[in-house]
Amino acid sequence: MAAKALLDRGQAVTMLDGGLELDAERRQVVSALAKQEPDAWDPALTARLRGPLDRPELKPSFGSDFPYVRGLDAGLDERGTRCLASLAKGGLSNVWGAAVLPTPREDFDAWPLTADELAPHYKAAGETLRIAAVRDGLEKLFPFYSEPRPPARPTLQAQALLRHLDARAQNLTASGVSYGRARLAVDAEGCRDAGLCLSGCPYGSIWNSAQEVETLRKRPGFQYKGGLRVRRVQSTPGGVRVSARALAGGAPADFEGARAFLACGPLATARLALVSMGLFGRELTLRFQPYFLLPAAMRSNVPGAAAERAMTLAQIFLELRDPAVSSRLVHLQIYTRNEYIADRLSRAARWAGPLAPLVERAFSGRLLAIQGYLHSDEAQGASLRAQADGDDGRLILEARPDAELRRRVRAVASALARRSSDLGFRPLTPLLRVGAPGEGNHVGGIFPMRRSPGELETDALGTLPGLPRVHLVDSSVLPSLSSATFTYTAMANAHRIGSRA
Ligand SMILES: Cc1cc2nc3c(=O)[nH]c(=O)nc-3n(C[C@H](O)[C@H](O)[C@H](O)COP(=O)(O)OP(=O)(O)OC[C@H]3O[C@@H](n4cnc5c(N)ncnc54)[C@H](O)[C@@H]3O)c2cc1C
Repeated sequence: MAAKALLDRGQAVTMLDGGLELDAERRQVVSALAKQEPDAWDPALTARLRGPLDRPELKPSFGSDFPYVRGLDAGLDERGTRCLASLAKGGLSNVWGAAVLPTPREDFDAWPLTADELAPHYKAAGETLRIAAVRDGLEKLFPFYSEPRPPARPTLQAQALLRHLDARAQNLTASGVSYGRARLAVDAEGCRDAGLCLSGCPYGSIWNSAQEVETLRKRPGFQYKGGLRVRRVQSTPGGVRVSARALAGGAPADFEGARAFLACGPLATARLALVSMGLFGRELTLRFQPYFLLPAAMRSNVPGAAAERAMTLAQIFLELRDPAVSSRLVHLQIYTRNEYIADRLSRAARWAGPLAPLVERAFSGRLLAIQGYLHSDEAQGASLRAQADGDDGRLILEARPDAELRRRVRAVASALARRSSDLGFRPLTPLLRVGAPGEGNHVGGIFPMRRSPGELETDALGTLPGLPRVHLVDSSVLPSLSSATFTYTAMANAHRIGSRA
């Protein structure tokens, strides 16, 4: 989004990127499937594109882990966190869930700018993401900044649940629950209900920033250089110097420009900034959205759900306002039957021996998965510091056990259980899983933008005092992470900085 805004201003942009891509063999399978309708797909081919279903915290893309660099390869020494980084073209948008909401107005309290100042940039980012959505009860909390595109068809389970929620709308409002259809960066008109959303869409219907890079490449003034790892940025008199190395072979490559914009994902951006400034050992805070996964059961089995082929990204968003649980909104994304839920159910049903198929049938149209997020203020945050280590340095991330946070998450599950007759599902609280700090990569806020920034804070254009003309434009500069998804906000902010820097 920063590159787009700069090109719109007539500036030339050179994008330096890790640029790793899916291997050629899998790419061939994807393009073979994309040429056919899902009904004609060879099950052996689709099976090859499905990765392991038992590690949702590291969801593969078309069966491959190419989007991820982890641990010491990513320069991360993790102690109690579970963070991710990427050197892929398109980064983690190769695996993201495409759920998009703007930050609610009330959560701009720690920001050096208002929601209105970000509005035109939300519009630009929304038009880029082509957000598929419905104007519904969520609009009061989350206005539309760009015209919504037609949504995907809700699954049978989602339709049943929405009917129930509509029937109980008054009670739900009175008890602090807002709900609506999930807002997704998905081309719903191109969606063919293949049901492979969580493994990778062969039709490319889920927005991926790699597609956007290809669009930018057609614009005059834009150059893309993949296969590079940027290791240092320096401010020079009147400009910047960027030092990189080829991922293959390690040949050095230096670039000069008027300004640099860092969007490596919050952790890689932090490492690059701290190592470039030689700031080792200084402790900063990594903010993250506390995350949990809560299975739930609908009141009755929805006929036909087990055999249905449908879009399997989030179906419904629920927003809970309950001061006994959190002073901020709690954001919940409801998923109906998908490949992960089906796999879990069939493994769980094995205890029933010969009756397993009956058990599966009884639950296949009832089970839901709820992904829940709290505002970053609800967690202590993890500590982050850079350590000198070879040329690139490393980041040490450390999170302490946070009993208060676990209590809060359990309180959310209880709050849902109390409202279960209005919600139309009952949480399966014994199966609640609280994510490790950083899980799902919902992290940032390392160098928060401030009106009067300190040494390790950024100004409203994402610049650190020690690195003039270098703008940090990813979630590393967000002053707080609202419980609602924040990639859309990070994109809008990058566009704002690219428009004004
Ligand atoms: C499984 C999963 C599901 C998610 N679902 C959602 C969701 O539904 N909604 C939502 O809002 N967010 C979601 N997220 C989070 C979202 O994916 C991230 O917020 C988003 O990808 C961040 O974008 P980014 O470009 O800042 O960083 P990244 O996606 O990490 O991309 C980093 C980019 O920088 C490049 N790069 C990194 N280091 C260097 C270097 N040193 N030199 C050169 N290039 C470099 C990489 O090649 C890549 O292009 C999800 C994340 C995961 C893992």
